Amino acid sequence: MSEENHLYINGTWEKGEGKKRTLINPHNGQVLRSLADASKSQTEKALHAAKEAFDQTGWATNVKLRADFLKKAADEIENSANEIAELESLNTGKPMRESIIDIEDTVTCLRFYADFVEEQDMKDIDMEDGTTSRILREPIGVCALVVPWNFPLLLGMWKIAPALAAGNAVVFKPSEVTPLSILKVVEIFDRIGLPDGIFNIVLGDGDPVGDTLITHPLTDKVSFTGGSETGKKINEKCARALKRVSLELGGKSPLIVFDDADVEVAVEWILFGGFFNQGEVCVASSRILVQDSIYNDVLARLKDRINEINVGDPMNDSTEMGPLINQSHFDKVTRYLEKGVEEGATLYGGEILDQEGYYIRPAVFADVKQEMSIVQEEIFGPVITIQPFKDEQEAVNLANDTVYGLAAGVLSVDVERAESVAARLQAGTVWVNNYHIPYIEASWGGYKQSGIGRELGPEGFYAFTEVKHMNVNRTLASPEWYS
Ligand code: NAD
Repeated sequence: MSEENHLYINGTWEKGEGKKRTLINPHNGQVLRSLADASKSQTEKALHAAKEAFDQTGWATNVKLRADFLKKAADEIENSANEIAELESLNTGKPMRESIIDIEDTVTCLRFYADFVEEQDMKDIDMEDGTTSRILREPIGVCALVVPWNFPLLLGMWKIAPALAAGNAVVFKPSEVTPLSILKVVEIFDRIGLPDGIFNIVLGDGDPVGDTLITHPLTDKVSFTGGSETGKKINEKCARALKRVSLELGGKSPLIVFDDADVEVAVEWILFGGFFNQGEVCVASSRILVQDSIYNDVLARLKDRINEINVGDPMNDSTEMGPLINQSHFDKVTRYLEKGVEEGATLYGGEILDQEGYYIRPAVFADVKQEMSIVQEEIFGPVITIQPFKDEQEAVNLANDTVYGLAAGVLSVDVERAESVAARLQAGTVWVNNYHIPYIEASWGGYKQSGIGRELGPEGFYAFTEVKHMNVNRTLASPEWYS
């Protein structure tokens, strides 16, 4: 990649012929990098390159080539971890200690899918009529992968690694706001070498770049992570062409705190669940439900602790929370702070820092009602609500009462009770006495309007495969149906 060439199409870096844009450092509002988007025709060119590579390079049938590539990529990314983490923090505003974890998880993801594809073992099934059947997992073809700005590299790799492991060809679109870490990783891909056209990256907005990727007839599979409203539009477009589609969308996840939990311990989980990555996390536990006998103690402790979180420059080691991503998101989040107060809730924290950059302090809304917009709508910032509940049934009712169903948490020393409550929650991931950790071996995704399909684990691999049932009769004989 050079100063000017930021698209990677058919194994070659090229200059974008679309809209010019500047990336802004969320810490100080200054220009970080100038780039140019792909044009519609460059996006189409990337899809054609992917199609040709899928059909002609042998990538789809060579498991060893694919596994070796993923393992080499993991090693090289690990060697450049600090450099990539710095780019991630500069571009997103997330503290360095979080970017480092993202790079480690990226490496783990690549290694997991390299091993996974090598371990695939298709067994024949002997049928009663003497034939044998084999269930094959085949690559789908050209996959358009589109991701948001909050975990640019990690969420990208949750799609790229299984898509490539399964033998597909990829055209990847990062968020227009945060392409820097993945561009560094594509330099690594290019250096290691993979067949031209198997991996392509195009930069740009939802229109025309994203839309072209999703609607083009050469795209066989769409895997999208982003907001629920964007996801619905993409789902409609894919439905028209019966395209395979996976959607990882928004959330408004509850964390249920039972009264047998230690108050100080519970408050640390509330902070971690709600404010990790500035609360710009799809699974953020933004609705805290606390059993009424400890509600006042939890709220009192929470009010103190939010003032102690170290908000500041993401590049400083001591920073615990960075700025919001950009001006428009800052405006959206601060508008919710005003709206919550207008709706009658009590706001603690949420002060705007008097300095450059998009900084606000963590915010907690108490005295909330279930129907308020701050309880029902995804804010995607460091803003949580806290509500009391009486018993298990009320906790479950409140927890399930939004259109979302991405994640949930339960805190209790009575693990049996916590598990039984967890079983009644409508959420794709439920953590008991834990939160936020994405385990590569397990699944990730949403119930209800939080998405369709699952990433990570075996499910994340199968999402990039077609299933073929091959039935074989070893003898060619007449079926003797029409005698
Ligand atoms: P977004 O929906 O605005 O954009 C996501 C991506 O889609 C971007 O790359 C964008 O350019 C692209 N895009 C936008 N319109 C498009 C269109 N019409 N066709 C094709 N592509 C289009 O979301 P965002 O603001 O970048 O990210 C925040 C959202 O992502 C939140 O709602 C969050 O919950 C969600 N998210 C979900 C998960 C998950 O795993 N479920 C993870 C992270 C973020």
